[in-house]
Amino acid sequence: MKTRLVLLIFLLVAARSNAQTTPPGRPLPIIDVHVHAMKVNTSFAVEMCPWFLRDMPGGDPNQQMRAFLNAQCVDPLQPAKSDAEMQASVLETMKRLNMTIVAYGDPQILRQWKKAAPDRVIAGIGVSSPNQMTVQAFTDSMSSGFYQVMGEVAPQYQGLSPSDMSLDAYFAVAEKQNVPVGIHMGTGGNGMANLTQASYRASLGRPFLLEDLLARHPKLKIWVMHAGYPMIDEMIALMGANAYVYVDLAGFIWSYPQAEIHAYLKRLVQAGFGKRIMYGTDFMIWPKLFETSLSVIENADYLSFDQKRDILFNNAVRFFRLDASKFK
Ligand SMILES: [Zn+2]
Repeated sequence: MKTRLVLLIFLLVAARSNAQTTPPGRPLPIIDVHVHAMKVNTSFAVEMCPWFLRDMPGGDPNQQMRAFLNAQCVDPLQPAKSDAEMQASVLETMKRLNMTIVAYGDPQILRQWKKAAPDRVIAGIGVSSPNQMTVQAFTDSMSSGFYQVMGEVAPQYQGLSPSDMSLDAYFAVAEKQNVPVGIHMGTGGNGMANLTQASYRASLGRPFLLEDLLARHPKLKIWVMHAGYPMIDEMIALMGANAYVYVDLAGFIWSYPQAEIHAYLKRLVQAGFGKRIMYGTDFMIWPKLFETSLSVIENADYLSFDQKRDILFNNAVRFFRLDASKFK
């Protein structure tokens, strides 16, 4: 009897300590602030090994370049084979992980996802060059009520600084409408300028290039996508000088070497910015990428439970001015 009582007490204590991290029935909410809603393109639908950039090849312009992605590992991530499979996987994952996404990309796909899961999809629209959309068209889109975010804005791929005056009127619209803006700064993988993006410049990913834009638009709320990787010193200095700038961890957390990712994230936290780091994946075509990316945060043994919750949820709630009680 006594043994049974001890066992019962043990089980109750174990159940209680478990309940502190996992409420019954539902995992704690997660917000992924960087998801691309894309049509499945069969020529790009290839397998991918996470952290594939741990082995940068030696190259020569007279030789054929190695494939951008690497599929040489025991368990490469599989791409979705159709738009329907993609949507089903994304919806199932969001529900199972209690996850909300900030998504942008193909307008048709985005509308389908939003229709299927209105409470779990926050829609964004990006402008990276004035050739893509007129200021009036952008203003109309932002006024339609469908979009709540401006992103992904990626002038770096167009050979433009984010402070280039040709983009200023678009940012003025976002500032006036109180819309948060996500700007791609930094990483582009191996050989981006040689492969498909001839205008891409590494130097146009420098976080300091945001300073003039921020000075012109003091009410603009921006988050630096990819955390300006690998320019940690400029990133920290920019966030120190501009109190409303946040970052996301998208892209580099599943592509660069894991020791490098953790060193970068640890440095941001160590510098005091744990309240301004948001979780994001840069999700594109591999449904299991959500779990792969979450595992990086889960396994960051230098972060406390509260620091992980800030990154996975609380910071995004604050940044996007959401109501935390709606995510329970
Ligand atoms: Zn990006």
